[in-house]
Amino acid sequence: MPSLNEVRSTFLNYFEKQGHEVVSSSPLVPRNDPTLMFVNSGMVQFKNLFTGVEHRDYKRATTAQKCVRAGGKHNDLDNVGYTARHHTFFEMLGNFSFGDYFKNEAIPFAWNLVTKEFGIDKSKLLTTVYHTDDEAFEIWKKVGVPEDRIIRIATSDNFWQMGPTGPCGPCTEIFYDHGDHIWGGPPGSPEEDGDRFIEIWNVVFMQNEQFEDGSMRALDMQSIDTGMGLERIGALLQGSHDNYDTDLFKYLIEASANATNVDPYGDKNVHHRVIADHLRSTSFLIADGVMPSNDGRGYVLRRIMRRAMRHAHLLGAKDPVMHRLVSALVTQMGAAYPELRQAQPMIEETLKLEETRFKQTLDRGLKLLDDEIDGLPEGAALPGAAAFKLYDTFGFPLDLTQDALREKGLSVDIDGFDSAMNDQKAKARAAWAGSGEAADATIWFDIAENKGVTDFLGYDTEVAEGQV
Ligand code: ATP
Ligand code: MG
Ligand code: MG
Ligand code: MG
Repeated sequence: MPSLNEVRSTFLNYFEKQGHEVVSSSPLVPRNDPTLMFVNSGMVQFKNLFTGVEHRDYKRATTAQKCVRAGGKHNDLDNVGYTARHHTFFEMLGNFSFGDYFKNEAIPFAWNLVTKEFGIDKSKLLTTVYHTDDEAFEIWKKVGVPEDRIIRIATSDNFWQMGPTGPCGPCTEIFYDHGDHIWGGPPGSPEEDGDRFIEIWNVVFMQNEQFEDGSMRALDMQSIDTGMGLERIGALLQGSHDNYDTDLFKYLIEASANATNVDPYGDKNVHHRVIADHLRSTSFLIADGVMPSNDGRGYVLRRIMRRAMRHAHLLGAKDPVMHRLVSALVTQMGAAYPELRQAQPMIEETLKLEETRFKQTLDRGLKLLDDEIDGLPEGAALPGAAAFKLYDTFGFPLDLTQDALREKGLSVDIDGFDSAMNDQKAKARAAWAGSGEAADATIWFDIAENKGVTDFLGYDTEVAEGQV
């Protein structure tokens, strides 16, 4: 059984042999791209090559790209702990053609790698194409996929976009059927969102560019952008449908079990999974220069960290845990990503500090949340005022509270939360107006309002921390 590190190498070597330049992963924070919070796919670092704005001395490239999907168009934060196939941080393996080869080569490249090089059983695979894409349909037939296993899909699932703007195009996806003992329906069916049919590879035919005003233009050249989740193909090659069953995740889950003294595979397994996942995203984000803060990228990091800490709490951890797991991650991934090893001391310190500080309010906040839940009438949502108090006084990001409630099938009254937030803003605004600093305050609140309460939490959270 190949390890994830071996699968990564096999992929890159395969495309290198086909004339692709092996290019390093770009950092998780996109350079010069304010439209995107974090790099969420392999194509991001090549965006300007697809649009023709930039040229390099290669026309084919292959990468293993660090990706974070915890906000924006692609957000999998709420999937972690609930599906077998989603992470907040994952590696996307890709091959790219910049005006070089197109559909005729890209499909056989993918099919040969999956079925020959990786030796995956063809009879378990199916593919999807964009409903009008007869060309892709015919190419799949030609490589040997039976017609009834090529599904035409009309939804956005088969039209790939990085975000609201940028290069995009119709795509084709390869799925693996893990068998009917696992819940889920074939692509395009209402039950699709289970883990039976798992999408392993997405091949995008880059031929359009989307603009902010909603218009789209045809690109001058036709290009290829593909993405395959390393953890998903790795799971498959290790005989599982579950990414968390791979060698790398097992190692991290064991580390979490050792640090907390809780059975890795018993009924608390889900908490270990979330911790393992969040350990990766937080560590890689810190290694790429993101620090926990109260707005923007730093707040996404803080939210992920605090969510992980709640799960450690549920494992009964009395002392900070996350920082003790970093060395396990470095053991697994430090060779492929030297920046991780380099940043290890900083990652450990940052995690420890954040965990020590949040610990002071986490226990009390969770106690308050439990009391609130106990007092809830059957089927009622948690009142917005309670969620706001948790946020404002105890430093609970809204999504942490939602995560805690979801386990119990409960939700938050979001309108109530927003209105509690607005009330507090109005009060603060009134207080500032009387302080002679009105001009500054107006600018400050304009920023807060333009960015929206869920994005911009700086002012309020600072107040909250001052109180605890
Ligand atoms: P899904 O439908 O399963 O959520 P997707 O269509 O959103 O996947 P793409 O945007 O097509 O995914 O990304 C390309 C590939 O990256 C996917 O085929 C999958 O193998 C992998 N991938 C996507 N999201 C994740 C994730 N959150 N965790 C791990 N791997 C992922
Ligand atoms: Mg997705
Ligand atoms: Mg999909
Ligand atoms: Mg896809």
